[in-house]
Amino acid sequence: MDRVLQIKEEIKQLETQLDQLKLELTAIQKNCEHTFKSNHYVQECTKCHMIESLNW
Ligand SMILES: [Zn+2]
Repeated sequence: MDRVLQIKEEIKQLETQLDQLKLELTAIQKNCEHTFKSNHYVQECTKCHMIESLNW
């Protein structure tokens, strides 16, 4: 079925794109001078939206 091959190819491309986006996001967050805003259990950077859980 052509449609199946089409879908598989599309998934492969999207996975590649997802990997690139994750790398880009990680790079941005790594270079960010975080400004955290605390919530009850997590704190989120207002600039890069990185989320850290607060462990007490
Ligand atoms: Zn940040």
